[in-house]
Amino acid sequence: QKTKNKLKNPFLKVEDRRRRYRPFYLQLSSFPVVNYSNPKPYSPFETERKNIIAHKQIENKQRNPANNDKGKGPVQLPAKHKKRKGYCECCLKKYDDLQIHVESEQHQNFAQSSHYQVVDDIISKFSCNFVELSTPKIKRRKCSV
Ligand SMILES: [Zn+2]
Repeated sequence: QKTKNKLKNPFLKVEDRRRRYRPFYLQLSSFPVVNYSNPKPYSPFETERKNIIAHKQIENKQRNPANNDKGKGPVQLPAKHKKRKGYCECCLKKYDDLQIHVESEQHQNFAQSSHYQVVDDIISKFSCNFVELSTPKIKRRKCSV
């Protein structure tokens, strides 16, 4: 079962001394180099100057919207529903789409449950000094991501 693949240089290998856990590796085509010539506040590990210059141009455009041709700029598309992958600590479950997971039965059950009592206990120790509106009370939606 042992594969005798020697690590190719340059690499980094991290292993616990007692050898109980699998080592993990990082193999690169070249190690990061501290690049002092990068302008502030760019990372010294940013490799290509081109990248930085491109970044700067984008930044300038965003800062000076007046520079954009009126109406000729790229049409702003309505924000699409972005899939967000992640891990739910309530359900102990990975998900591929945050929105779908939040609406799933398992998550909804958790969100409506009394699992948030620990949070409510802490909140109950705070004093609330906001002005209470006299409009009909909207029931607090117990919901957490
Ligand atoms: Zn969940």
